Amino acid sequence: MRPGMTDPRELDKQYVFHPFSMAHVHEQSGALMMARSADGCWITDDSGKRHLDAMAGLWCVNVGYGRDRIADALADQARQLSYFHGFSSMATEPAATLAERVIAKAPEGFSKVFFGASGSDANDTQAKIVWYYNNARGKPEKKKIIARDRGYHGVTVMTAGLTGLPGLHAGFDLPLPMIRHVSAPHNVWTRLPEEDDAAFTARLAKELEDLILSEGPDTVGAFIAEPVMGAGGVIVPPEGYFAAIREVLDRYDVLLIADEVICGFGRLGTWFGTEALDMQPDLMSVAKGITSGYAPLSGVLVGDKVWRVISGEAPAKFGAFGHGYTYTAHPVMAAAALANLDIVEEENLVERAGEMGAYLNEALARAFADLPIVAETRGKGLMAAVEFARPTADGWQKFDSSLQVAPRIVRAALEDGVISRALPNSDAVSFSPPFTITPEEIDLAVSTVRKAAGVVH
Ligand code: PLP
Repeated sequence: MRPGMTDPRELDKQYVFHPFSMAHVHEQSGALMMARSADGCWITDDSGKRHLDAMAGLWCVNVGYGRDRIADALADQARQLSYFHGFSSMATEPAATLAERVIAKAPEGFSKVFFGASGSDANDTQAKIVWYYNNARGKPEKKKIIARDRGYHGVTVMTAGLTGLPGLHAGFDLPLPMIRHVSAPHNVWTRLPEEDDAAFTARLAKELEDLILSEGPDTVGAFIAEPVMGAGGVIVPPEGYFAAIREVLDRYDVLLIADEVICGFGRLGTWFGTEALDMQPDLMSVAKGITSGYAPLSGVLVGDKVWRVISGEAPAKFGAFGHGYTYTAHPVMAAAALANLDIVEEENLVERAGEMGAYLNEALARAFADLPIVAETRGKGLMAAVEFARPTADGWQKFDSSLQVAPRIVRAALEDGVISRALPNSDAVSFSPPFTITPEEIDLAVSTVRKAAGVVH
């Protein structure tokens, strides 16, 4: 550090390499907001200004900020056993207790959890499990993974490629060659005007089947999808979508991975998004809501079909399962998750997410009904978005990206003390607040973003 320089804003500007930020702009202008403390749904910045966080950080602070119970659990566990690992059959008590607790909530047929520290590493583990499973079954060609345009699955070399957003590929030589994408079930940009749910679903399922057939079913290992897409635009699939997808996958012996990193642990008003969307996966990824962001923790939930191979044919062929992170089964992270799940259960927050979600979605539909540049308000549970577009004679046209419509709306709302989020690849503004948000706070978030949209437009 240069002598005398202690202002955190200056230090940030000079030394921090920020994710998903324009490097040259940050170096010039510095942080948009510097958070100092938080409580409930509110963040206080370094100037003392309070902001209503209608995004729960990055879709993760489900129980709200400033929970003593989780802070105490972290501190107590750090004092008792600050770290130990899970390699070579070592174990910690909090991780074992947590694994049972997660499996008890999971759909029938799931019996094991592999812990990590982020949604990206969970999905990276998923890809390796798919390969390992098919190698163990003597199907070494079955390696391709199909994801969806606009899906978000992480930023590692594998998962950034699975992510169907060009901004995560640009400059990185991604996706890797074994990755394919199909269309997102997007009402505004994918659904044809004459299509009802059944016709839309049938077309999307056929697109997937055609791709599997053209690639060769013997080369396709898995399909990965979020129950409701988050960062790609809060995209809720049409009725019957996952049942139709499952039928196609079953026909060609292709595994289904549910990326529950946002939806898992209550955001849609059910413990997992798979329940809300009638999705029957073979593998599931969880992160974010498992600790409400108080500690980095993820999990891969393994269904019985895959587990039978991992514990059956695989060891004889490959020896010990050769994968794991230093922080797999970290006791302090697991203690945070246990305290977080206590809160979710005792305060009935899953049910509350469903109720507040209905309130939020109705409030958005009402508030934006009169704005001519709104193509759709949509959502499920406490995930919602407003899609802004230019009306045309026969539908909608995307705004030129140089107009920065959604980012400008989000910036104007931030000035007025509400944190929302602009989503890439179109002009959507999203909401994903803590489950503890009140109707009054929802009204404030919605009216502030509505006002910002009116001004920007
Ligand atoms: N999967 C989904 C659905 C996500 O929303 C995210 C992050 O937003 C990830 C995976 C990646 O998680 P992480 O940022 O913890 O690596």
